[in-house]
Amino acid sequence: MNFLEERITKDGIVKEGNILKVDSFINHQMDTELLDMMGAEFKRRFSDKNINKILTIEASGIGIACITAMHFKTPVVFAKKSQSINIDGEVYCAEVESFTHKNTNHVIVSKKFLNRDDHVLIIDDFLANGCALQGLISICNEAGASIEGIGIAVEKGFQPGGQIIRNLGYQLESLAIVDGMDASKGSITFREQ
Ligand code: 5GP
Repeated sequence: MNFLEERITKDGIVKEGNILKVDSFINHQMDTELLDMMGAEFKRRFSDKNINKILTIEASGIGIACITAMHFKTPVVFAKKSQSINIDGEVYCAEVESFTHKNTNHVIVSKKFLNRDDHVLIIDDFLANGCALQGLISICNEAGASIEGIGIAVEKGFQPGGQIIRNLGYQLESLAIVDGMDASKGSITFREQ
């Protein structure tokens, strides 16, 4: 088991509805030493890539993205959830269905902060059905930015997102891939990587 799998086994909580709670170290209280180890690992896995920007989505990806960005020495841009769509043409916009909240948000990124010169690493905390990532990919495509890779803390391998994103040809690196969870026993099975 790697450091993140060990921590999930120790402190992660399996909820009904295929939800894994990591509130005590990633999603509410944040263990910055753990996030720093995650950032270092992303840097190692994408060491051959020329990355000049980290892109994530609010809110839960921001902490991991910021600490990862310190390893790459780049700025972070986070897509903002917005009520209004692209009215003035100053923003890139995508529709994202939320797995946890079961609603649809428009997410926007200002054209000031992403363009065709950017070589982007997309970072997020969880990958489930892949909607959040597809929104971020669509925003990069609209901007003409190159996607150098995608780094995820926890991929739920029994949901389709990972397969969809890998089939699109992206280098997707997930630090922990959960292949099964049982809420009644609280058990979590990880994929060998
Ligand atoms: P997707 O768009 O891939 O279906 O879901 C990814 C997003 O939903 C992530 O940004 C994350 O915030 C949230 N999410 C999905 N599954 C889980 C989960 O099991 N636990 C937590 N804490 N968040 C999740």
